[in-house]
Amino acid sequence: MSNNIKPGIAIHGGAGTILKAEMTATAEKEYLQALEHCLQAGAEIITKNGSAIDAVEASVVALEDCPLFNAGKGAVFTHEGKHEMDAAIVDGRNIDGGATSGVKNIKNPIKLARAIMEQSEFVMLYGAGAEEFAKSIHLDFESDAYFYTEHRWNQLQKIIDEQRMALDHTSEKKMGTVGAVALDVFGNVAAATSTGGMTNKRYNRIGDTPIIGSGTYANNQTCAISCTGHGEFFIRAVVAHDISCLMAYAGFSLKDACDKVVHDKLVKIGGEGGLVSIDSLGNIYMSFNSEGMYRACQSLGGEKVVQIYK
Ligand code: ASP
Repeated sequence: MSNNIKPGIAIHGGAGTILKAEMTATAEKEYLQALEHCLQAGAEIITKNGSAIDAVEASVVALEDCPLFNAGKGAVFTHEGKHEMDAAIVDGRNIDGGATSGVKNIKNPIKLARAIMEQSEFVMLYGAGAEEFAKSIHLDFESDAYFYTEHRWNQLQKIIDEQRMALDHTSEKKMGTVGAVALDVFGNVAAATSTGGMTNKRYNRIGDTPIIGSGTYANNQTCAISCTGHGEFFIRAVVAHDISCLMAYAGFSLKDACDKVVHDKLVKIGGEGGLVSIDSLGNIYMSFNSEGMYRACQSLGGEKVVQIYK
């Protein structure tokens, strides 16, 4: 390990209108504990000299398995009352990537994204074909009942009543998306993101999460980024790759690059949300322009940070 790098990991469980005034003490505690648990899943790997790609996958699997967050178990409902999930993973060593979108009943979509990266000749598979590939490599499937959570179902009913599309992060506590970024002791970065997308989505809508360069990106020369927010704007702003480019071509620091994109470029087009990021030296920056973002991070040997509000 080079002396001047600080291996570490950062995770998020979605950004949006998360106000302390609207959170009960019990719910706040549950979220903080869940974030700490999911951070630990990846931090442990980094501490034991494991790889960044294993660490981000482990944290995202833990987040997907937690019903509090909009990914895997607890994913939001589509208009038709189904769960269509998106995920992507990028390995900063060679900018290798795997992504999947619109998949149903896959227990851990992030595992599918990784398998696409490592075990197929493709980068992105969607829908029934992606599920067929998942079956061929024996990934775990779950019934619709596994993905059902009462609060997500109630969100859908409320939105249908109100006859509007709701971005998961804009109204109430309909938080969306989970993600992780890490730098390992070998100097490699990786990013992983997974989501159920937006409540009441239809027409096979796909957000930024599985689009490499928009919601997810990693490059050893610059940084690793995992986004959460109003996907349409994150796609248009090519958020994750833009940050990497500002660092690579314009010499920006990680913080300046994130601020430029999150607090200027996105704001100008009306895009709400945030991201977690880590650069190739291990600087961690968790940036958002919304009221809050479920987030946590830890550098090797350093203090754990677990936060929700601005
Ligand atoms: N970015 C996700 C999407 O648009 C949703 C979110 O992060 O809240 O699908």
